Amino acid sequence: MDYKQAICLNGHQANVDIDINESVDSFCTECGAKLITNCTNCNYPIEGDWSRSGDGFVDLTHHNVPIPKYCVKCGNPYPWTQSALNAINEMVNLSELDNNQKDDLKESVPDLLSDTPKSKLAVFKWKNIGKSILPYIRDILVEVASESIVRALYGK
Ligand SMILES: [Zn+2]
Ligand SMILES: [Zn+2]
Repeated sequence: MDYKQAICLNGHQANVDIDINESVDSFCTECGAKLITNCTNCNYPIEGDWSRSGDGFVDLTHHNVPIPKYCVKCGNPYPWTQSALNAINEMVNLSELDNNQKDDLKESVPDLLSDTPKSKLAVFKWKNIGKSILPYIRDILVEVASESIVRALYGK
């Protein structure tokens, strides 16, 4: 049997071992947002604690189930990923950069959130063009980006 996880729309993990056929109708205890267990675009379950599948053996060392950023089935960003993308894009829009620079930065935001072949380029762009915005998006990136990208952007 496979398990799915319940995550609130803002990306707080509530439960990682929900029966795949179970439906969850509750809210986040951190922020009150609705919990989802399936992709809001294609309804595919959000992969939960697969390590508990099988003979009922519970591996307590295996309890760091990552919160995925994109749906494995349709590739759409989950709501919390979309919120992060939107928030960063809004910061860019509010900045005093010219439109070309804004477009350049906004185009590179997905490469800041995940490790891709273009992440180094994205980091370079942000450290140069996006320097003035970086302090304001730090908290968002710490939540959603990989550690290596955060380190590359902010040092240490
Ligand atoms: Zn929440
Ligand atoms: Zn999906």
